[in-house]
Amino acid sequence: MVDLYENILNALANKVRADILKLLSKDGKASFTEIMEKLRMDPKSEAGKFGYHLRLLMKANLITLDESTGKYILTDLGRQVAEYMWSIEEAARIKKGEMLVRTSSLTIEPFDRRKIAEVLVREANAPRTLADAISKEAEERLSKLQIRYLTAALIREFVNAILLEKGLEEYRHSLTRLGLPVYDTTELIKNASKVVLPSPDSVHRLAGDSVFEEYTLLKALPRSRGDAHLAGVLHYNNSQSFVLKIANIQHDLRIFLKSGLSPDGSGIYLPVHKPPLTLKDALSITSKLTSTTLHYVSSSQALDMFNVFLAPYADGISYEDVKSLLYDFIQDLNINQDYRHCVQPIAIGLELGIPKFLEGEKAVGKSGVYGDFEEASFTILNALMDIMLEGDGTGKPFTSPQLILKLRKEVAEAKAQESLLKACSLATKWGAIYFVNMHQGWQGVNVSLCGDLSRLDSEWKNDWELGCLRAGVLDNVTVNLPRIAMEARGDDDIFLERLEELLDLCYEALTIKRKIIEERIAIDGIMPFLGQVVNGDVYYHLENSSLLISYVGLPEAISFHTGLDLTDSSALSFAKKIVQTMSSYAQHAKTGDRLVVSNLTFEPVSSRLTKLDLKTAPQKALGRRKEIPPIYTEFSNTPQYQVLPLKKRVEIEEVFHQMLKGGHLLEVKLAEPPPSAKGLYDFVRKMTESNIGTFCFTRDYTVCNICGNIVGGLKEKCMRCGHSGYKLVKFSRINGLYKPSPLWREDDKWVVLNSQRYLL
Ligand SMILES: [Zn+2]
Repeated sequence: MVDLYENILNALANKVRADILKLLSKDGKASFTEIMEKLRMDPKSEAGKFGYHLRLLMKANLITLDESTGKYILTDLGRQVAEYMWSIEEAARIKKGEMLVRTSSLTIEPFDRRKIAEVLVREANAPRTLADAISKEAEERLSKLQIRYLTAALIREFVNAILLEKGLEEYRHSLTRLGLPVYDTTELIKNASKVVLPSPDSVHRLAGDSVFEEYTLLKALPRSRGDAHLAGVLHYNNSQSFVLKIANIQHDLRIFLKSGLSPDGSGIYLPVHKPPLTLKDALSITSKLTSTTLHYVSSSQALDMFNVFLAPYADGISYEDVKSLLYDFIQDLNINQDYRHCVQPIAIGLELGIPKFLEGEKAVGKSGVYGDFEEASFTILNALMDIMLEGDGTGKPFTSPQLILKLRKEVAEAKAQESLLKACSLATKWGAIYFVNMHQGWQGVNVSLCGDLSRLDSEWKNDWELGCLRAGVLDNVTVNLPRIAMEARGDDDIFLERLEELLDLCYEALTIKRKIIEERIAIDGIMPFLGQVVNGDVYYHLENSSLLISYVGLPEAISFHTGLDLTDSSALSFAKKIVQTMSSYAQHAKTGDRLVVSNLTFEPVSSRLTKLDLKTAPQKALGRRKEIPPIYTEFSNTPQYQVLPLKKRVEIEEVFHQMLKGGHLLEVKLAEPPPSAKGLYDFVRKMTESNIGTFCFTRDYTVCNICGNIVGGLKEKCMRCGHSGYKLVKFSRINGLYKPSPLWREDDKWVVLNSQRYLL
């Protein structure tokens, strides 16, 4: 035993030998040269001395040579001795008041209170003397706790607690750390497939979302504005990318057809496409344009006048060839996945012929003007609709793109009627087309819709190009109307006053957003595609992009306020007054601010707001029947579950559409069996006489992914093979877009199942 002690103590009596033990306890094993390298010893001059140290350690039975790897490892005894050395060192550190910190850059360093002071000055703008005092106090309190290992996160919380105790709330706010607890991260991974398009990348982005949502509410917006969202007075759509992305963009295809496409905006990182000469190349460039833009927008994109701008390339090509090229294009668009929407909605704006204002415009792709290519524009339109009618390789309908067909008075010839009939076939078969009624004067020269159905028009600067292209919605803030009704307690004046106050908050937040995006493009350089200069002009027109204020819960607010529903004329007239107040507020925005109002949200908003309201107001007070789940009417002015003759629903909706310049939609849900194409055609013609701006028809369908059977209506069991499990997927339109049943939330399911459907 005496020999053993002597050998161990002798072995430890030298710093090099102690360092070798510590090194092997950290690294597990290392070769002769590896150890020398790590201890910064010279392999030439010090090899002999080093060998001597190793032999002594081996003699003391602390290390041994692992024959199989040729590396040194600790023996059991060596491991125990090394542990003992670590704890002595730590005790010494604690005695000296020295603690170890696991830092956020994943290193371990001795505790240094000056770092706390530095952080307080740098991040919170605290005065130097205060920062020093706080850091000293933190050091004193931490050392009393005798903690072995501190983490940077823990020290931060500790400092925050001291700031709170001292009433220094503002400094604490700046030091807040963003991120997810370990438990939440695990839950996120486990539950992601129920809320987003399943993929590892989706989970990754969800985690990032939570950081940026907090950042938006804590840092980007003033405190009280962030609190308004948390309290449910209003809702910032896309708050997870509020500081990073624009909501949507409407492209001008001609730019890229004429000049080619640089997908990274600079040509430095990604290959550049030259201007296309064929339809195949033109579609390829369009597809890459949407793929690259996907990274910049949180909601959607649009390609307006698609069949007009591509017509010169399709000129002289057979219908079959055009269709085959378009089929590939549609498949490509459907790979443009956005984790939240499943497939990111991309709108394709379509014309029944060449609209008057484009007839004389110089064409890109072939010499002449667009008016020369009317026939080719019909070829593209019809081929596109046929592809959508036929569906994918299994006959399943495409849920993207959103076809937007404009119905203009001026184009009423036979060809247009034939195509309109085809559009009606598509609407009655899969619901996969939206109609924009351009017959009413208030729609102006042009209207373009994005994939999220937000609307831009030519009224802006009185110019269809500046108004509708190379711009989009910057973002969307939603007002919670029932909350206002609760506060107004039946007083009209208070209601409208409170509404205006909220509109101020929304407007302010949106101008902050514009400033942020301006910075991202011009200073931070993270949006090079939008900021690229084409033909002497920046591609994305930030100054023409709109600031959108939307609302939810109009019928619920009215019911709370008046006790009546919108079928009552006095209730309807107050509802009109509410929307008028919003619309006139928008019209009186500062010159140069494109402020618009809509009743469309960019994400499900109602559910969150309703639940918050129900914490303070009982269900009954909201004028709701008990069986109706807590969800305010969203994307519509009349609840889909309310039993109303279609004529009445149209009459109520058309009161609002022309005031909602930022977007509106009348969705007509079809009962089974759906009408014939001709029957729907007659209905569509009648609708053009109304003041409804945008409308669509929804046909539900069920797809069996076992036997491939696809039938209309929502089925619980496959009629062909009897499958009733998770591979039987139902499709219905939720907030304007088709969604597969695995991604329906509980509230969505109730609305889908209880909506009123019409036999036309
Ligand atoms: Zn089946």
